[in-house]
Amino acid sequence: MKSNIEAFLDLVKERNGQEPEFLQAVQEVAETVIPYIVEHDIYYGRNILLRMVEPERALTFRVCWVDDSGEIQVNRGYRIQMNSAIGPFKGGLRFHPTVNMSILKFLAFEQVFKNALTTLPMGGGKGGSDFDPKGKSDDEIMRFCHSFMSELFRHIGPNTDVPAGDIGVGAREIGFLFGMYKKLRNEFTGVLTGKGLSWGGSLIRPEATGYGTVYFAESMLKTKEEDLNGKDVVISGSGNVAQYAAEKCLQLGAKVLTLSDSSGYIYDSEGIDADKLAYVMNLKNVKRGRISEYLENYPHAKFVKGKTPWEVKCDIALPCATQNELHEADAKMLLKNGCICVSEGANMPSTIDAVHAFQKAKILYAPGKASNAGGVATSGLEMTQNSLRFNWTRDEVDLKLKSIMSNIHDACIEFGTEEDGYINYVKGANIAGFVKVADAMLAQGIV
Ligand code: NDP
Repeated sequence: MKSNIEAFLDLVKERNGQEPEFLQAVQEVAETVIPYIVEHDIYYGRNILLRMVEPERALTFRVCWVDDSGEIQVNRGYRIQMNSAIGPFKGGLRFHPTVNMSILKFLAFEQVFKNALTTLPMGGGKGGSDFDPKGKSDDEIMRFCHSFMSELFRHIGPNTDVPAGDIGVGAREIGFLFGMYKKLRNEFTGVLTGKGLSWGGSLIRPEATGYGTVYFAESMLKTKEEDLNGKDVVISGSGNVAQYAAEKCLQLGAKVLTLSDSSGYIYDSEGIDADKLAYVMNLKNVKRGRISEYLENYPHAKFVKGKTPWEVKCDIALPCATQNELHEADAKMLLKNGCICVSEGANMPSTIDAVHAFQKAKILYAPGKASNAGGVATSGLEMTQNSLRFNWTRDEVDLKLKSIMSNIHDACIEFGTEEDGYINYVKGANIAGFVKVADAMLAQGIV
């Protein structure tokens, strides 16, 4: 006899067999949420999870633009509007050549639970394009963003769907997207988050995902009467999330040993201090260079080509690059080297086997949907400020971010603490997120 979980996953596979990342995200949720549904009559027999895995709407569209040499380029644009039970669809846009339906559906599905955890009224969505911003001029980026928005604008709005950034979509891209939306709609509204400060953005939004990931690590460490001070930290990625995770680690007295990009990682045994981090920020955000160029200024560091940093001995690991960047063998290596805490800045960076290895060893492990929720939470705060036509100070936003991360940690403890006292953060995050969305769906009937 098949278990409830197997039967459910078979059904989802039948409909979405070509979407491995989406199936992986669904499996991770099903493993913890289905046993909970079975034990709770109000959810049992209502096919709620089956309804949740089906997007309310999934759009693909043509994006044509002209490159600097006059050639016509064609990309594919997407928006997945996954679930709006508790608020307008909300979630980032990713521009990366690997973008496809599977990746965006996994991200949109995770977003539903993450947004519910923030306690703010935001549904879940995600979108993007297979467009590769690497090596493109600013003018090419602008023409692409304008073309992308010339279709997307029909489907979004401050009360319908509010996109933000993600991989390949930062302040520059949000500016171009916002400009075209405003022109087409002839209105200035908070339709995108991650905006510049002078035109509706929120203080702390750029920092929020990275800072929040570290605040969550702090809360986890506190359960073991530990903190970040003096700890060795290994970070992957060198984009928005990685940069600000590193900054917060330094502020809390930790030593950051690594950063990476898709070509490999740098290891600085002396630690990447504030000056070195400023160099990286300029290298990545202004010069748009590669992380290996770190060695041009700091030749004592090592660049390890084509590898991820999980082989470096550390106390804390913060995966902040992309999905499935930390495999079972990496997890075992981290454990062997004494790592006690993993807080995910990226979405689904650890494979299911890697997650199981962390849980079996009973170390502190937080899935991205809990630990990286600070980004979307602060986007929610940006939406609130836009509605109020008012700006909070840096300290006010940071305080709210801290409090939201701490509440998410509490929710994980409430729903994820096992009989022996081990906090299963995956279970806690999944069930807490599920309960909020499922209750709203039940109240609204079968729509
Ligand atoms: P950025 O585009 O700013 O940076 C991405 C970083 O990850 C770069 O260093 C990039 O290297 C690396 N990377 C991307 N793809 C791969 C890959 N296939 N293999 C190895 N390295 C890769 O993105 P963000 O920092 O915004 O996003 C990082 C992660 O955090 C993503 O998983 C995203 O979904 C998640 N996240 C982001 C939020 C945000 O607010 N920005 C909110 C919540 C989660 P390279 O330059 O070589 O591509």
